[in-house]
Amino acid sequence: MRVLIIEDEQKTALYLRKGLTESGFVVDITCEGEEGFFLATTREYDLIILDVMLPGKDGWSIIAGIRQRGKQTPVLFLTARDSVHDRVRGLESGADDYLVKPFSFSELLARVRSILRRGPIRQTEILRIADMEINLVRRRAIRGGQILELTPKEFALLLMMAQRAGEVLSRTLIAEEVWDMNFDSDTNVVDVAIRRLRRKVDDPFENKLIHTIRGVGYVFEER
Ligand code: CA
Repeated sequence: MRVLIIEDEQKTALYLRKGLTESGFVVDITCEGEEGFFLATTREYDLIILDVMLPGKDGWSIIAGIRQRGKQTPVLFLTARDSVHDRVRGLESGADDYLVKPFSFSELLARVRSILRRGPIRQTEILRIADMEINLVRRRAIRGGQILELTPKEFALLLMMAQRAGEVLSRTLIAEEVWDMNFDSDTNVVDVAIRRLRRKVDDPFENKLIHTIRGVGYVFEER
């Protein structure tokens, strides 16, 4: 398995290379955006680990360019702690997953393995589940032919749940993913947000998509 790391923070890049090499990967590193883009489009990799902020060419331009060239190499995006927006933008641009800095190596390795198991999947512009259509580019959700009037936060919550359809999502995970905050002390915030989202997404429709898993969290799926 060959991995390309495009990361300008030398410490992070070397730490990743060491860990991945020890885990049996062959690793190429570059700290510069243009060179990273060149390598990503001219060589074959099983995975690209891509930092957002880079000298030369940023992570978004790199991933957009890779996808424009029809390359489906899985991309794991590295984003800053407080930028949910970056992550959504990364996923929209065609990233397969993202990891928020700082992260532990075991976390990274788990993500890497899960992406490689999934194989290259084209990030589509439109996500369809049951009679729901979520347009990632226009940031709009339509259900049963009706546009759902969602706030940006509600849309982010819906998108996150839909992208992980079928997966049981704990309140803590939802809080971290959507608000990028730790609500350990008050996961009630999540319940309130889900209640509001349900009002728009599920209440007017017979077929419910958001389900409560008692004592655990929520799952988004067609039943
Ligand atoms: Ca950087």
